[in-house]
Amino acid sequence: MIIVMKGGIPKEHVHNVIRTIEELGYQSHVIWGTQRTVIGAVGDERGKARLHSLEVMPGVESVVPILQPFKLASREFKSVSSVVRVGNAEFGGGRLAIIAGPCSVESEDMVMQLALLAKEAGASVLRGGAFKPRTSPYAFQGMGMEGLRLLAAARDATGLAVVTEVLKPEDVDAIAEYADMLQVGARNMQNFALLKRVGEVGKPVLLKRGMASTIQEFLMAAEYILSEGNYNVVLCERGIRTFETATRFTLDLNAVPVLKKHTHLPVIVDPSHGTGHWEYVSPMAKAGIACGADGLMIEVHMRPEIAVSDGIQSLKPEVFRQLMQELAPFAQAAGRSL
Ligand code: PEP
Ligand code: MN
Repeated sequence: MIIVMKGGIPKEHVHNVIRTIEELGYQSHVIWGTQRTVIGAVGDERGKARLHSLEVMPGVESVVPILQPFKLASREFKSVSSVVRVGNAEFGGGRLAIIAGPCSVESEDMVMQLALLAKEAGASVLRGGAFKPRTSPYAFQGMGMEGLRLLAAARDATGLAVVTEVLKPEDVDAIAEYADMLQVGARNMQNFALLKRVGEVGKPVLLKRGMASTIQEFLMAAEYILSEGNYNVVLCERGIRTFETATRFTLDLNAVPVLKKHTHLPVIVDPSHGTGHWEYVSPMAKAGIACGADGLMIEVHMRPEIAVSDGIQSLKPEVFRQLMQELAPFAQAAGRSL
């Protein structure tokens, strides 16, 4: 339910409504507006009719249901697009946010060189996995805590914000000490314990779409994080499984306008995992911007031929630099800047 307050009322009326919502056993989520304030009341769907009675309280203009199952993520609740700030980067504003870096953190030199490259080319966030979700238990599992320290050193040297993946709820606190943004990967999109934990911690979250998840399931996963009071969620379309085998996944760019229609959360595109091959990354990066994405996540490696993970889809430095230059007119055509 959304409780829409009248304009120009004392704050006390808002607080009284919040108190009553909570007494009825619902959570309240407030959007303080300059014109008017709205309060989302979420919780057990069965008894929500009781919330209708709040219409008689002083200052309340109307009580309307949120029809979508993802309540707080919906544009019904918040019609204005959200901007998520991570360091100096802004997701969802007029400027595109570009995340770049290696699939895995592999060594000190490598992370530092890639961070300098990302910065110089115009990216605002450095990526790199320290804890890796691998299909095979025999594959490189990541450098762990040491990888986090290397990412933090690269941030100190460049001023770039850092995003890295978290695999388990019990690792969230430790990773949040080093990272500016926590990535929940495709394989964990429905790890509900993890979603709740990153919601509680309150750091910005990069939530990647599960490779076999519908758009609605994706938004319900985001709702888990929002319902814990963390509204700093950025959604990432990273490709889904289809019958097609010519590419690693099928980058579902339909998801971008669909998500933008239904949610106020920023949406970015990952053409690296979405295609699985470096030659397809630049065209699909441009397509992602053209269809309205708020940013991109691109895997880059100094020497993809020796990368410990995802070398085939990683851009070489010169290809990444060229892509960044070529993106500008696409950004402009989409009403954004780079
Ligand atoms: C990654 O970003 O390195 C990654 C593992 O992505 P995904 O979860 O989308 O597969
Ligand atoms: Mn990868």
